[in-house]
Amino acid sequence: QAKADGRNTVRFFETWMEDAVARRTRLEVELREALTAGQFDLYYQPQVEGDRVVGAEALLRWRHPRRGLIGPVEFIPVAESTDLILPMGAWVLRAACEQLARWAAAPYSAHLTVAVNISIRQLMEDNFVRDTLAIIADTGADAGRLKLEVTESMVIEGVEETIAKMEALRRHGVRFLLDDFGTGYSSLAYLKRLPLEQLKIDRSFVRDILVDPNDASIARSIVALAQALGLSIIAEGVETAAQRDKLLELGCPRFQGYFYGRPMPVADFDDLVIAAVTQ
Ligand code: C2E
Ligand code: MG
Ligand code: MG
Ligand code: MG
Repeated sequence: QAKADGRNTVRFFETWMEDAVARRTRLEVELREALTAGQFDLYYQPQVEGDRVVGAEALLRWRHPRRGLIGPVEFIPVAESTDLILPMGAWVLRAACEQLARWAAAPYSAHLTVAVNISIRQLMEDNFVRDTLAIIADTGADAGRLKLEVTESMVIEGVEETIAKMEALRRHGVRFLLDDFGTGYSSLAYLKRLPLEQLKIDRSFVRDILVDPNDASIARSIVALAQALGLSIIAEGVETAAQRDKLLELGCPRFQGYFYGRPMPVADFDDLVIAAVTQ
C-alpha cells in the first residue's frame, strides 16, 4: 500500500512538474511573439515635488490578447532567465526615449524626466553603453532627462564593470538611481563609489511609516545618507497624504505612489500634467 502511495506521489509530482515546465515554455513563446506583435506598452507613474509633476517612472505592461493587461512581476523574471530580457529591455528604453522626445516638444511637459528600470542582464551586456547611446541618439531624447533605475543587488554583482558603464553613460548626461533602496545589501563603501544621482526609499518603509517608529527611523536615515553623499531622494509607494506629510517632515521632498496616481497610459498622464499646470 505504501509503495502504491509513493508511486502516486511521484506521478503527481511529475505531472505537476510537466505542467510548470509547459506553462513556462508557453509563456516564453508568447513573450517572444508579444515583442514582435507589439503587445507591450509603457505605463507612466507621476513623480511629484511640491505641486508639480516633475517626472515619470516608465513601467512595462503586456496587453495579452486573451488574458488582458499583465504586470511585469508575472513575466520579467521569465524574460530575465532567458535572453528575451535583452530585446525587451531595449524596446522599453526606446519607447521611453521616444516618449521623452515627445514630451520635450510639448508645452506643458518639456521639464519631465523619465525613469526606466534596467535589468541586471542588460547592464552586464558588453554593448549596453553603446546600445543605450544609440537609442538616445535615434530618438532625439535628451540624455539629461533620462534616469536609469538599478538595484543594490545588481550593482554588487559586478562592481567594477558596472561602475565603468555607469560612468560612461553619466558622461553623456544619463543619471542613475538606486531603486528599492534599503532592501538590498550594498555596503556604504560601494555606495560612495557609484556614480548615482538619487536614492529611492523602498515602499516597504513607507507603508507603515506612521505607525512603525523603526520605519520612520530608517526613512530618516536614508534621507541623511543621501544628503551626506550629495544625492537627491524620492520615496515610492506613497498612498496617503499623511505618509507624504511624514516623509516631508523627515526631509524627503519628492514622491511617487498611488496617492498621486497609479501607473497610467500616456494620454492619462498628459491630462494629469496639464491639469496640474492649469488648475
Ligand atoms: P519598481 O521599479 O519598484 O516599480 C514600482 C512598483 O510599485 C510598480 O509595480 C508600481 O505600480 C508599484 N507602485 C507604485 N506606487 C505604489 C503604491 O503607492 N502602492 C503600491 N502598493 N504599489 C505601488 P509594477 O508596475 O507592477 O512593477 C513591478 C516591478 O517590475 C518594478 O518595481 C520593476 O522592478 C519591474 N519592472 C517594471 N517595468 C520594468 C521594465 O521595463 N524593465 C524591467 N527590467 N523591470 C521592470
Ligand atoms: Mg523602479
Ligand atoms: Mg520597491
Ligand atoms: Mg521601486
